[in-house]
Amino acid sequence: MTERTFSIIKPDATKRNLTGKINAVIEDAGLRIVAQRRIQMTEAQAKKFYEVHAERPFYGELVETMTSAPVVVQVLEGENAMARYREVMGATNPEQAAEGTIRKLFALNVGENSVHGSDSLDNAKLEIAQFFTEADIVG
Ligand code: ADP
Ligand code: MG
Repeated sequence: MTERTFSIIKPDATKRNLTGKINAVIEDAGLRIVAQRRIQMTEAQAKKFYEVHAERPFYGELVETMTSAPVVVQVLEGENAMARYREVMGATNPEQAAEGTIRKLFALNVGENSVHGSDSLDNAKLEIAQFFTEADIVG
């Protein structure tokens, strides 16, 4: 089924000029970038976005990292896009990420792991709505 998922190219990657290389991996995996915008995330946006991790010990560091430089927010579309993108991203910790995945190729460590991808279709909807309106998305 054709689905949409939400992606972020994180500050560690934008700082190293990796947006194009990451987009190439995404597109080579058969996912279409149907919306994309480079933004500076505010502290409020980052806190809200990662609210589910508020009690985790790395929450403060995560918010700080996500606001340390611009990010690229994206909507990806394709067959089973949510699960497919999780596969293409690789494991959260790059040391555990499979060969050829974005995190294996580019991530620095578990905190600076280059990309975010939604972990469910419900979350994908909510995350897309946090950064895009339907008019921004051209499938
Ligand atoms: P994922 O991004 O793979 O869905 P999680 O949802 O578990 O992973 O965590 C969200 C983000 O929080 C991770 O991508 C990473 O940037 C950060 N993070 C997760 N675990 C740690 C950790 N142990 N130390 C530092 N940062 C972490
Ligand atoms: Mg997650």
